[in-house]
Amino acid sequence: MVSPAVTGATERAMSSGQRRIVLAEVMGFCWGVRRALEIVQQASRQGGRIAALGDIIHNPHVVQELQMYGIEPVDSIDDAHAGGFQWVAITAHGAGPSRVRQAMSLGLGVVDTTCPLVMKVQRLAERLVREGYFLVLFGDRDHPEVRGILEWADTTRAVVAKRAADLPWTVARGGEGQSPPRKVALISQTTKQTEAFLSFAEGLAGMVLPHGGELRVVNTICQPTWERQEALRKLADQVDLILVIGGRKSSNTARLVEVGRACGVPSYQIERVQELRSEWFEGVQTVGLSAGASTPDSVILETIQALVERGFEPPTQFWRLDDPDVDAFAE
Ligand code: SF4
Repeated sequence: MVSPAVTGATERAMSSGQRRIVLAEVMGFCWGVRRALEIVQQASRQGGRIAALGDIIHNPHVVQELQMYGIEPVDSIDDAHAGGFQWVAITAHGAGPSRVRQAMSLGLGVVDTTCPLVMKVQRLAERLVREGYFLVLFGDRDHPEVRGILEWADTTRAVVAKRAADLPWTVARGGEGQSPPRKVALISQTTKQTEAFLSFAEGLAGMVLPHGGELRVVNTICQPTWERQEALRKLADQVDLILVIGGRKSSNTARLVEVGRACGVPSYQIERVQELRSEWFEGVQTVGLSAGASTPDSVILETIQALVERGFEPPTQFWRLDDPDVDAFAE
């Protein structure tokens, strides 16, 4: 559904020949990222150098800004210890319990910025394993959030999968060959695309449910992620081109670009404003803008400014901040 205000804006743009910018209703920093940045900046004011285990969030602008507060990314706790840091910061993606133990055993303090929504998925994974389920985690095996969840699950009865070929089974239950166990639970990395998760769940059900199997599916894609995807779909109805601003390593940004393309609108990801290309704008009357959950407002505003300099009218509506229902998530 197109909101009346934006429909009016688009119609005015068409009739007046003006080129316009329309923003997604919700975009940019999510609740969990804002919270992580506040925690780490507050900790830096207490004194002492802080080593972040990886990028506090997947955005190079923010990582550079944090370095000015004395917060530097490192690859491991050993590196933090060897580098003379006093604190280790767990990023919003979370980490396994062994990291915290290792840091404390080396005398390092821990600043935990794990997003509470990720924490809930970690606890859910633990609980499902305790209840006897084989755990299937829909996600990217090398993503820090996924590695952390698996460590909390603490089991050999788990697999990370994005497609049927990643599963350890070749046939449905009751078939001849490697078949699934009776009880399987499916959860997702918080930043995956809803449709992809649902379609994977459907395929998994076809393998697990025959012959008395049980499949427990919990959609653990977080509210800020799916709200951004839905806002992008609405935006796609109104524009000729979609730009999604976000870091190359950001999973939720990549998913937004996929959503835009699936809606049939040319969609491009940029990390910084210098990556805009003139040929994208040929014949474009209305450009839609969205941004991943780790994209700072400053980069969004710079991009709007650059589009205005290319002859687009500034947007008439701004985006809103998200406020997820943490209590209701992954229970
Ligand atoms: S994307 Fe979702 S889970 Fe990740 S930090 Fe933001 S709110 Fe938390």
